[in-house]
Amino acid sequence: ATMPPLLSAIATCGRHGVLVKSAAAMERLGAVTRVALDKTGTLTEESARVRGIQVLPGSGLTEYEALALAAAAERPSEHPLARAVVAAARERGLHLEPAADFASAPGRGVRAVVTGHTVQVGSPTALLDGAAAHLEGPGDPAPLTGGDAPVRTEIGDAPVRAAVAEVEDSGATAVAVLVDGRPVAVLAIAAPLRAGAAEAVAALGRLTGTPPVLLTGDNKRAAARLGEEVGIADVRAGLLPQDKVATVRGWEDAGERVLMVGDGVNDAPALAAAHTGVAMGRASSALTLETADAVVVRDELAAVPSLVTLSRRARRLVA
Ligand code: ADP
Ligand code: MG
Repeated sequence: ATMPPLLSAIATCGRHGVLVKSAAAMERLGAVTRVALDKTGTLTEESARVRGIQVLPGSGLTEYEALALAAAAERPSEHPLARAVVAAARERGLHLEPAADFASAPGRGVRAVVTGHTVQVGSPTALLDGAAAHLEGPGDPAPLTGGDAPVRTEIGDAPVRAAVAEVEDSGATAVAVLVDGRPVAVLAIAAPLRAGAAEAVAALGRLTGTPPVLLTGDNKRAAARLGEEVGIADVRAGLLPQDKVATVRGWEDAGERVLMVGDGVNDAPALAAAHTGVAMGRASSALTLETADAVVVRDELAAVPSLVTLSRRARRLVA
C-alpha cells in the first residue's frame, strides 16, 4: 500500500533530520506567503563565543572576576549567550560560585544572587536604560530586578555607553554585567553564521515571492551587519519576544501566512503566533516541541526551504 502524500513527506523529513509534528503542520508549510527569521541561535550557530571582556573603571574587579560572576549567574540559562559566557569561564579554568534566586526575562537577560550579591547579565538596553519599571511590568513572568537591588538608571554613564558602542560597532552582541545594580563589565559575544544561511534565505525569498525579514532582540548594528551577510534588507532589531509576536500577528491579520523560523529559546510565542513555526536546533526545549510545527535537529538552514518544497509537492498530490 502506498502512503498518503503528506505522511510520506513527513517520513522523508524524518530521514533528513527534520521532525514534522503532524500532517496538518506538513500541509501548512507549503501555504506560507512570508518568512521571518530570528537571529541568535537561528541564522547564527547555537554556539556563540565570548570575544572580549571590558571591565569598567571603578568596578574593582578583574576581567576574570567579572566573567566568573557573570558565568555563575548565567549557568542555569539555556540561552546561546548564556552558554557562551559559561564556556568562556570554563575555558579559563574559573571557579563558578553557586547561584541563588535565579530569574530570567526573555529577550532581556538573567538575574541571580552570587556570593550575596545580585548579579544581572543581559541586554544593555534592558539593564541600563532605566528599564526597572518596564522589567517588572505586568505580564512579565520573571522580573529581572531583585526587590533588594533595584536597577539604577545609568543613562548618563559614559564608560558603559562607550564600551557598549565599541562592541556593537564591531558587529558583536554587547552583554552588560551588573553587580548590585552597578554596571561592572561589558562582554562582546559573537556567533558564526550557520552554513548555507544566505542560500537558504534566497531560496525562501524565491519560494514565497517576498523577501524574508529578520526579527531580533539584538542591537541594530549587529543585526544590520548580519542582515547584509545573509541578504536580508528588512531588519527589525531591539524586539522583545512580545514585539516579535505583534509583528507576526500584524502580518497574519493582513492576510499573510507567516513562516517563523526561530530557536525556541526566546521566540516560542512568535513560533506559536505564526501560521507555521519551525525551530532550529538540537537543543530545542520541551516547550519548543510543544509550540513549533517542525523542529530541525540538524544544523542546516537549507532544511527550511526544503520543507516548503516538500509540502507543496505533497499538497499537489493530495489535491
Ligand atoms: P534574538 O532575537 O537575536 O534571538 P533574544 O531575543 O534571544 O535574541 O535576546 C535578545 C537580547 O537579550 C540579546 O541580544 C541579549 O542582549 C539579551 N539576552 C537575553 N537572554 C540573555 C542571557 N541569558 N544572557 C545575556 N543576554 C541575554
Ligand atoms: Mg534567538
